[in-house]
Amino acid sequence: MQLDISTLFFVLGGVSILACGFAWFLYFNNRHIRGVKAVALSSSFFAIGFSAIALRAFLPAWLSYAAANIAIFYGYAFVLYGVLIFSGRKANLQILILCGAAYGIEYVYYLFVEDNFIVRLISYLTTYGIISIITFAIIVFDYQKNSSRAYLAASIFLVVLAVSFFICAGISIPSERVKDIFSKTSINALVLYEQIIFVIGWLISFTLMVNERLLLERKSAELALIDKNNELERSNLDLEQFAYVSSHDLQTPLRNIVRFSQLLEQRYKGRLDSDADEFIGFIVHGGKHMSELIDDLLQYARINKQPLPPHPVQAREAIEHAIGNLKYEREEAGAEIDVGEMPLVIADPSLLTSVFQNLFGNSLKYRSPDRKLRLSVTAKRDSSDHWVFAVADNGIGIEPQYHEKIFEIFQRLDPISHAEGTGIGLALCRRIVHRFGGTIWLKSEPGTGTTFFFTLQDGSVST
Ligand code: ADP
Repeated sequence: MQLDISTLFFVLGGVSILACGFAWFLYFNNRHIRGVKAVALSSSFFAIGFSAIALRAFLPAWLSYAAANIAIFYGYAFVLYGVLIFSGRKANLQILILCGAAYGIEYVYYLFVEDNFIVRLISYLTTYGIISIITFAIIVFDYQKNSSRAYLAASIFLVVLAVSFFICAGISIPSERVKDIFSKTSINALVLYEQIIFVIGWLISFTLMVNERLLLERKSAELALIDKNNELERSNLDLEQFAYVSSHDLQTPLRNIVRFSQLLEQRYKGRLDSDADEFIGFIVHGGKHMSELIDDLLQYARINKQPLPPHPVQAREAIEHAIGNLKYEREEAGAEIDVGEMPLVIADPSLLTSVFQNLFGNSLKYRSPDRKLRLSVTAKRDSSDHWVFAVADNGIGIEPQYHEKIFEIFQRLDPISHAEGTGIGLALCRRIVHRFGGTIWLKSEPGTGTTFFFTLQDGSVST
């Protein structure tokens, strides 16, 4: 079979250009894949080298010769470099020594020793066969320690590569017997076969290796994420435990302080001077406030501690309880509360009451002095099996920059003008809603009013 070598190298050049485009694409999109840069570099060199041979009729001989030789050499060098990188080795030094030696031997043969094309070819193929076998040995050694499919793929590839080099080297020997067997095959075609086997083997094994590497990286990223989550959960539990224990232990001495300063106030009011009365008043007030803070903190810490199997709860009942608990505040404000159709949701009755009570309590506290407070509660089914509750008021509203901050524990906007409260109500609401798998957010316009939204799973679906 006689083949025109230019056409063949055109084909090889084309394949290499495609491979090189694909590898650079991978490199720029997945920088973290180990070895992909080496693949991209090697395919670029092959593209240059094969194209230089294919276009040799249009180029000065020295340029075509030098470009083909140097580029193809570096193509192979980077293949080996990539293989070593994939096998997890620090490849720089080894590959330099390996390729330097191989190139040195081949170069000497090429330029100074042998003029005969056949001998040149043999030296060339044998050199690369030897490099392949050495790299193969390194990889097999690694594979024993590290049974990964990437090593297996690399090994298979290198065996194919080495065999192809040796076969080509073998059949290039000008022996009559070999020539008889391959009498219809030209040397050009042999070179082509060897190159085709190489390029195909190279593409297949690197695709396998890239896949394997991606898979491994994804797996290790997932494992790292699970580890991080577990760690976070553990440290959250520790923190909760710490908050719970310290608040609990703080309460007893604090109660004593409040009780005895109240006693001091009752027994000695007017018997000391006016400054002393004022100071005792501060102690009583400060102590009470601290006690409230600790109570709230305990309640907050308890939410995740209580073993509450969530079950269907009538939202209307929770709302009625909440309104009942706020009877005096509501009467004092003269507020109207409209409650729409309410669903059955997955929650815990007392925690859901607590959510509504905090939201209503805030609407009552932060009402506008200029108008009568109107409060409404509605529920709407969303596209999944969740209900979206909306608690809307026409109060003083909240500036947009505080919409996230107010959900943090002990965050208050204007503690002076609204002395009541510890800044934990919304943090508590968020914790409860999250506990039942929902989310909470708000929309508000300062001076017009605020609407708090939260979602809960439909209770009629999962029973
Ligand atoms: P507290 O009411 O104890 O201060 P919260 O966590 O319940 O704590 O609320 C945090 C802050 O969010 C409040 O201090 C208040 O400034 C603001 N806020 C909450 N609800 C409303 C509301 N309905 N209207 C206006 N401001 C609100």
